[in-house]
Amino acid sequence: MSGVLVFVEHAAGVADRLSREALVLADSLAASAGGSVEAVLFGSDAAEAVSALGAQGVATAHVVEDGRLEAYAPAAWGAAIAELIDARSPAAVVAGGSDRGQEVLAHVAARTGRPLVTNVVAAIAGTPWRLTRQRWAGSLLEDAELRADVALLTVAPHVVAVDEDTAPATPAAPATPAAPATAVNRIAPRVEARDLVARVTGREAPVAGSISLTDAKVVVGGGRGVGSAEGFGELEELAGLLGGAVGGSRVVTSAGWRPHSDQIGQTGLRIAPDLYIACGISGAIQHIVGCKAAKRILAINTDPDSPIMAAADYAVIGDLHQVVPAISAEIRRRGGG
Ligand SMILES: Cc1cc2nc3c(=O)[nH]c(=O)nc-3n(C[C@H](O)[C@H](O)[C@H](O)COP(=O)(O)OP(=O)(O)OC[C@H]3O[C@@H](n4cnc5c(N)ncnc54)[C@H](O)[C@@H]3O)c2cc1C
Repeated sequence: MSGVLVFVEHAAGVADRLSREALVLADSLAASAGGSVEAVLFGSDAAEAVSALGAQGVATAHVVEDGRLEAYAPAAWGAAIAELIDARSPAAVVAGGSDRGQEVLAHVAARTGRPLVTNVVAAIAGTPWRLTRQRWAGSLLEDAELRADVALLTVAPHVVAVDEDTAPATPAAPATPAAPATAVNRIAPRVEARDLVARVTGREAPVAGSISLTDAKVVVGGGRGVGSAEGFGELEELAGLLGGAVGGSRVVTSAGWRPHSDQIGQTGLRIAPDLYIACGISGAIQHIVGCKAAKRILAINTDPDSPIMAAADYAVIGDLHQVVPAISAEIRRRGGG
């Protein structure tokens, strides 16, 4: 094949955002590596997601059909991709910078004895490959060389722009010609029982109607300054009025004020909303790495010298317990929410 193989994660028939970022990088890599872009997807509902991949330059999609691999099983998914590498001989395998992307490619690397390069922002194929990657929670960029027969790469989250970032909100452009269809290759890889020891056995559905932190256009984040679990009621109210979601710093998840799934940062979620409202958050680098892809940051903090000010586009210096309810009241007064 000598092209690029992309591990595509999907939900409800749609490739997820970080996988689409990986597809964009893969497309440019295929230009320098030669060959086409192929994808590998898991799950019985993968076929639906495949239908949109032609527009993203995917020539062939390998759909893994094995009931045992339906639910996430990192070692087994890695084994399936390793088998596909043997069959297709791609120049590179690329995954999005999600927890799963990193974990599955780590399994592929360990299983095949190849190096894995994470958090890549740019790459040029060759001998050696020339790569630029994020280090230290995105606070510095490293230029690196990679010598490998197959380059295993994950893409730094929210650095590569996807079409929806540049497309106008209401498409006025003339219709583009239909994208070529993606060929589907159904595969059933060899799976050993030991590869299925760690696997997802159940899922908890989010509260009906709630907006996920990674999809929300507005995120209201709370830190130690919120003071208690109850204090988040004011943030919930503001997020509700703005149609957004609530997240927090590690201090608040460690204190049990919010579940770990709400944590934003290096060891939590990386979000990219249009607006991030950081309330009572100091702006430690480990937090900033999770929110720096926001288009705008509004900081509400009593300390004008807190590090969050360096990342903020707007700031209100004051007690969040006065400022946040005041913003909510003003939105209501203007008939919003
Ligand atoms: C390996 C590692 C990984 C980490 N991963 C993460 C991560 O993923 N996410 C993360 O967030 N952190 C992470 N951390 C922790 C990080 O270093 C900080 O300790 C943490 O982000 C601080 O949280 P905070 O801003 O809520 O609290 P603090 O740093 O204590 O800041 C509280 C802020 O609230 C302000 N404040 C106080 N009262 C009020 C008020 N009434 N109104 C307005 N402002 C007020 C204060 O001025 C201060 O700026 C990690 C650390 C390590 C070492």
